[in-house]
Amino acid sequence: MCGIVGYIGNKKASDILINGLIRLEYRGYDSAGISTIEKNDLSVMKDKGRVKNLYNLDGIDNLSGTIGIAHTRWATHGKPSKENSHPHIDNSKTFSVVHNGIIENYNELRKFLIEKGYTLYSQTDTEVIPNLIHYYYKQDKSSDSLRFLRAVKKACSDLKGSFALEIICKDYPDNMIVTRKDSPLVIGKGEGENYISSDIPAILSFTRNFYLLNDFEFAFLSRNNIEFYDSNLKPIAKSTQSIEWNATSSEKDGYEDFMLKEIYEQPTAIRETIGSKLSEDGKCEFEELNFTKKDLSCINRIYIVACGTAMHAGLVRKDCDRKTL
Ligand code: GLU
Repeated sequence: MCGIVGYIGNKKASDILINGLIRLEYRGYDSAGISTIEKNDLSVMKDKGRVKNLYNLDGIDNLSGTIGIAHTRWATHGKPSKENSHPHIDNSKTFSVVHNGIIENYNELRKFLIEKGYTLYSQTDTEVIPNLIHYYYKQDKSSDSLRFLRAVKKACSDLKGSFALEIICKDYPDNMIVTRKDSPLVIGKGEGENYISSDIPAILSFTRNFYLLNDFEFAFLSRNNIEFYDSNLKPIAKSTQSIEWNATSSEKDGYEDFMLKEIYEQPTAIRETIGSKLSEDGKCEFEELNFTKKDLSCINRIYIVACGTAMHAGLVRKDCDRKTL
């Protein structure tokens, strides 16, 4: 899980993005970052730790761009670090991407990109995405307004797993593309401006009119307009839904309390944490740990350090050990 925010309009994007991230920090707080278009160039500012750390970054106050994307991370691939923070950019610094979800075939895509001459600087699954977009973008020799969208669509067709994506491109300084599959993303419609978020409450103070995207649908945003496309890039019509609830009840997604909400979120939480480690035959694989049989045979005690619900999960494990040893 992580939080993503986006803005395209006439206001200074960085303030809106950081405020939105603060409201989404419950979704992840390993690192945070924003990317804006500044005078036709991409700016990326990110750091490890909480969203408020962004205020300490040199130059953050000087950003004046009115289009941008932002992310607060809950790491799934690669440790919490600055280099693994989102946004991620491609080698040519043309595309900037934030991602919520897991790319299950990222190893395969990494190998493909490295063979094509790309360098990957982080350990995340996400970094393949901007580079794949660039790969398809440079193959497309036409220069019409949909070249950016075609490249994003082709890259998404290669992805297995879950994603909510926001993408900006320095060649399209007045546009943003968003898409999703199995990860949440909503589009808030304003007057001459549009907002993106992982959940409704983070942007409910700006608008009550929302577009919802189905899996594999694309939105091509400009300040005054949003075009929607299906998975074959056929234009589709969408209407807004008006939200009547207040921010607190929408944060609970209709559940009576947060505890009940968390209980119902468990299948998604499990899928997002270990889903990419499960192979089709039901085995759980943690290749990156590089444990040999000999290493495992030397382990005679496991410590589980946890509190809250995780403590109860740990106690269940402890109980199993008593029975099996
Ligand atoms: N899988 C991505 C990462 O580890 C995104 C995680 C998230 O959804 O925060 O960077």
